Amino acid sequence: MSNGYCNVQHGGYRTRAECEWPYACWITGSGRYACLAWCRVLTVTLWGSREDALAAKEFIDRTACGGGCHRDHRIVDLNWPHRKFVREGGVL
Ligand SMILES: [Zn+2]
Ligand SMILES: [Zn+2]
Repeated sequence: MSNGYCNVQHGGYRTRAECEWPYACWITGSGRYACLAWCRVLTVTLWGSREDALAAKEFIDRTACGGGCHRDHRIVDLNWPHRKFVREGGVL
């Protein structure tokens, strides 16, 4: 595939997330909405609703996601086609 999009039909959002962010330090959850923290190392939490993901992001925006946090947090909708090893795409 020349356009760089992943053409694998993932069995779930968790495997989709693991495909998209193979370098993540850890990934937890199984929902459609991913809350990503790119500070120091990438960590991903998956949530069943956008509201839950936004709440998780607001929480780490307020409290820091861990050591070396510089508030590089974002929400990604995993229902989008994704590109491998590309950071943008599907960002809400
Ligand atoms: Zn994939
Ligand atoms: Zn952070």
